[in-house]
Amino acid sequence: MLDFRRFMGLSPPFLSLFGSRRIPAERNVFLVPPVIPEYGDPVFRTVLTCTSSKEGDIIDLTPRVEKAIAESGIRTGLVQLFVQHSTAALTTIEFEPGVLSDLKRALSVLAPDDADYAHNTRWGDGNGRSHVKAALVGPSLTVPVENGKLLCGTWQQIVLLELDVNAGRRRSVICTVDGA
Ligand code: ZN
Repeated sequence: MLDFRRFMGLSPPFLSLFGSRRIPAERNVFLVPPVIPEYGDPVFRTVLTCTSSKEGDIIDLTPRVEKAIAESGIRTGLVQLFVQHSTAALTTIEFEPGVLSDLKRALSVLAPDDADYAHNTRWGDGNGRSHVKAALVGPSLTVPVENGKLLCGTWQQIVLLELDVNAGRRRSVICTVDGA
């Protein structure tokens, strides 16, 4: 029978809310035994680079991710993207000027230009707001791949957000394709 508590991965303190007995920690980890990957079947990995021109640039990476999937030869699986910077972020969005400006405005409400940032005080970077926005949006993205194509929606593009106050940044995105 399915053990609900193991399925949910709940911690013992939380389980006590249900009046459940405490379960040994070693039983509280896996739903099923972990799948051991076959050796000799490594993932495909490449680095996508781009250069932004100014704070607020939003760069459509979709064609480049599609190209990487094609190069990988993988038909069914996942593509995982990770931007290696703390003042840039990845997300998906409809790539049209209206919603791009809406996103920028929303981020500037969360981390206003004129707020006091401890990061600026400590380091004099002046990019405190950039770090905060990047942390809120996040550095990574995973998208399913089917028949060698991204399973994105029709109006859903993969984008890099340039959030740093300093212009002309070269950005690296690690692109890993895993599957068969
Ligand atoms: Zn900084």
